[in-house]
Amino acid sequence: MSILAGALFGLFRLLRASPRLAAFASALLVMLYAALAGGSASVIRAAVMADAYLLAVILDRRGDLLNTLALSALALLWWNPRFLFDVGFQLTYLATLGIVLVLPRCESVLARVARPLRWVLESVAITLAATAMTLPVLASTFNRVAPVGILANMPIVPLSGLITGLGTAASATLLVVPNGLPWLNQVNGWLVDLLLWMAQWFAAWPLSSLRVYTPTPGMLVAYYGVLAAWIMAGSPAPSLVGRGRPGRWSRWLALACALLLLVQVVLRLDPFEKTPRVQMTLLDVGQGEAIFLTLPGKRRMLVDAGGLPGSRFDVGLQVVAPFLLHEWVGRLDVLALTHAQEDHIGGAPAILRGFTVGEVWSGDAPNHSTTFLWIQEYLRHRRIPLRIVSSGSPVVRWGEATVQILNPPPRTRQPMGDGRVPRLRPDDASLVLRIGLGNQAVLLTGDIQRVAEAALLRRPEAIRAQVLKVPHHGSRSSSGDAFVTAVRPEAALISVGYLNRFHHPHAEVVERYQKSGARLLRTDLDGAISVELTSDGMRAWPRHSSLRLAHHSWLSAE
Ligand SMILES: [Zn+2]
Repeated sequence: MSILAGALFGLFRLLRASPRLAAFASALLVMLYAALAGGSASVIRAAVMADAYLLAVILDRRGDLLNTLALSALALLWWNPRFLFDVGFQLTYLATLGIVLVLPRCESVLARVARPLRWVLESVAITLAATAMTLPVLASTFNRVAPVGILANMPIVPLSGLITGLGTAASATLLVVPNGLPWLNQVNGWLVDLLLWMAQWFAAWPLSSLRVYTPTPGMLVAYYGVLAAWIMAGSPAPSLVGRGRPGRWSRWLALACALLLLVQVVLRLDPFEKTPRVQMTLLDVGQGEAIFLTLPGKRRMLVDAGGLPGSRFDVGLQVVAPFLLHEWVGRLDVLALTHAQEDHIGGAPAILRGFTVGEVWSGDAPNHSTTFLWIQEYLRHRRIPLRIVSSGSPVVRWGEATVQILNPPPRTRQPMGDGRVPRLRPDDASLVLRIGLGNQAVLLTGDIQRVAEAALLRRPEAIRAQVLKVPHHGSRSSSGDAFVTAVRPEAALISVGYLNRFHHPHAEVVERYQKSGARLLRTDLDGAISVELTSDGMRAWPRHSSLRLAHHSWLSAE
């Protein structure tokens, strides 16, 4: 858009219009173009920015680039305040702000350099400034930063400018020549191919793009503190920071903020262990299940990884992986797959590909899941141990916590005395895990139904737990009276999709838990649910209750 505005302005100036008239005419045409281009948010944003600059020319205030930027941002936010939370808006304005603030400070250095080299250095400075300003937004939103962009932008930005210019010129000739200029489009096509090829070539470099954890708000404050102090230290305009020696104290401020940032990162990577506790999050993965646990000794375990059967949406990649990166988790000690159904293991391949996994637990029930076959093959290839576990497996002890496997019974596949192979339904062969700490426990039940519940009831004392992950998404074929009475949960958590086609959870089941006095939390209504166990107490709460409330009131305000 700015290229178009610049070209129009130049054209009108060539036609001997005064700067003001040229700016006014260009501003009008930019608005017309934005309307013709469909008026999407990004187009409007670019048009408002270009128009704000042209307005500065009209009012003869060209020097105040910062004011121009602020004016256009205010205009857009006045039009739609929600732009403030739009990633495109944040990236555009932060990048431009970076360039406007940094470039004038580099000019004295750049002026001493001979011309061709100066252009190169200038484009590096622009990219560096834009990257430095947008880095936290990129890290928070995409968990990815691309250092190669600094080099790649050098040829790619001018080339994309050339392509836009040629494309606009080719369209403009259509107004004059009925058939346009086909050869011009042909040349532009080659340039587009070249651009794509270059982008792929740069992307193939080692370390071209790095995955990063989500920065915390404290880190963002410290990071921008470093940038602001550093920019002030190099400020050519002392009026900006008052009298005295701004350079020295802003340098100290930059150093202090940098230290603060470093301390936060180190503490987040290796946090102090307080009193032993088990932290659990039942993720909101729609109709499916994924549960993340942190246990004493910094052990991390993921029980199932969600999955939407028949959908191209990869829950593992789009929901579970971003959650783990948000929690600063790069390694899982255990990935437990309760049973080989798509709503539980569909997201597992993305987790195995993206994270270091110590070992995978599963039962040995026969199944024909292609995803599970893929997982087995992948584990063999990567030499990640696959542990077949059952109620016969020894109790795992991590610090003060225990992980006990209560289901399936051992050797589900072996023939019995009369040669019959016991046929346990895949749901009933789900792993059931009881995670205990002191006198508190969580019971994770996969999709077990009546048969497995009956088997578990033979040892009612073993399934008693303060927190129960309700079996099989709250279906009617699970959570029998005797089972609910034996577990006697204080909190019952259900993982279900909003308005799912199975009508889970069943009304009878919901009523049964409510009658038992358990507090019911559901991912379809409450979103992700957090649980914290200490050796003598338990707490369960919807993870984003306040956020969701705000979201709802926003929706109802429309
Ligand atoms: Zn399920």
